[in-house]
Amino acid sequence: MEKLILSEDEIVRICTRLGKEIDAKLDESNNGIPVVVAVMNGALPFYYELIKHIHHKIQLDTIKVSSYDGTGSTGHVTVSKDPDHNLEGRDVVLVEDIIDTGITMHYMKEYIHEHYKPKNLYTCILIKRNNINMKFDELSDFTGLTTDEQRYIVGFGFDYYGLLRNEPYVYVPSMKDIEELNAILEDDKKTHADMTKEK
Ligand code: 5GP
Repeated sequence: MEKLILSEDEIVRICTRLGKEIDAKLDESNNGIPVVVAVMNGALPFYYELIKHIHHKIQLDTIKVSSYDGTGSTGHVTVSKDPDHNLEGRDVVLVEDIIDTGITMHYMKEYIHEHYKPKNLYTCILIKRNNINMKFDELSDFTGLTTDEQRYIVGFGFDYYGLLRNEPYVYVPSMKDIEELNAILEDDKKTHADMTKEK
């Protein structure tokens, strides 16, 4: 590990605070049963911790988008799984892992407004990066941590080619970590290639 960004304890403290902020907003809005929507796959660990600290009666849902190819933004966003609830006229809280360039959040907000017409669409993110190459300056209603860290982060939902999402904390990987991960990925590719050849 090069640098710890969020420890397990910090994540729980952040989710406790965000849960209180979300409860206060939903109580004030008082508009039926709100739906809290996780953006898969990255936001899932954050989502599971966060919803334990929301005490308002809510329903759960998911949306799946992809905007990333490996470790660099493609600037191209697609929705591959829609929410299952009818969100029209309802309060919706969209839970995402990070706002980086802002492209994904900008696209998702437009997509949900256009296709689902919620009464209120709130956003909750674990990390807001003050990205020097920000494309859309998307603000979030509920934010865990704001950081100037520009390096790629992993753990607690943040992946490196699909790996490390299950780590319980968020960190900047070291060069050694990356080399080890690349070796694992390379081995895996060979194993699968060998299996294909055997068929
Ligand atoms: P944006 O569209 O704001 O540039 O990026 C949003 C998406 O990019 C996030 O949902 C996340 O999946 C991915 N992302 C952005 N920065 C990082 C990072 O530092 N590490 C990882 N693992 N994913 C990131």
